[in-house]
Amino acid sequence: MSDSRGEKITALLELSHELGREERDLAILGEGNTSCRLDEETFLVKASGSSLANLEESQLVACWFAVLLPLLKAGAMTDAEVETALLASRVDPAQPKPSVEAVFHAYLLSLPGVEVVGHTHPVAVNQILCAGDEPARRFALERRFPDEIVCCGAKSLLVPYVDPGTVLARKIRKETDRFITAEKYQPRVILLQNHGLIACGATTGSVLAATLMAEKSARIFVGSAMMGGPTALTAQHVARIDSRPDEHYRQRMLKL
Ligand SMILES: [Zn+2]
Repeated sequence: MSDSRGEKITALLELSHELGREERDLAILGEGNTSCRLDEETFLVKASGSSLANLEESQLVACWFAVLLPLLKAGAMTDAEVETALLASRVDPAQPKPSVEAVFHAYLLSLPGVEVVGHTHPVAVNQILCAGDEPARRFALERRFPDEIVCCGAKSLLVPYVDPGTVLARKIRKETDRFITAEKYQPRVILLQNHGLIACGATTGSVLAATLMAEKSARIFVGSAMMGGPTALTAQHVARIDSRPDEHYRQRMLKL
């Protein structure tokens, strides 16, 4: 994104409000968080204890990548040490404390092409992610209809449940590395078992599209399971949609 700081803030607030719309069942109360890269050294992330639905500019905290990224490699940390690091990561100490998930936001925003990250706890996605390993694995690795591939990629990354915060951030990094080595592309959707969903993208539009489509796909998955399904597309069909020029054109037009 080459937009100005003001445009980035406006776009991130709009994304947060869209993700927080109550009828969408993606996040309620203080659930979920959003972030975007500001420049090479800093990014904006939702403040701890704020709500996506009515997030305000004063609740977006600018943080230093250089303070948070080393936490991915540090040894075991106490809650107090994490708290100190989160407070130290603020560019302006007068701003509120960033979300405890700021560490995984810092990591994902450091990947090539990722400018925006949105994390939610969608109801239908969590119905599957709380249903045990097999449905979660199938939901992540299989695809059921073409637009799911266009918006969410050919596969999602599934991350087993671990403690939210630095332990989760380290697990996400390890599993993302493994995914990129195996699949040769970065995941657009990361599914956290017994927790929720993370969408990564170049724009706020791509993060919203991936989140909404993953939630729609989850509703289809749960509904078709009641009738003996779901039936997955074959690997050939998935690869065909993923490589079609008209689908790439559609992705560009939709700014995915
Ligand atoms: Zn969460």
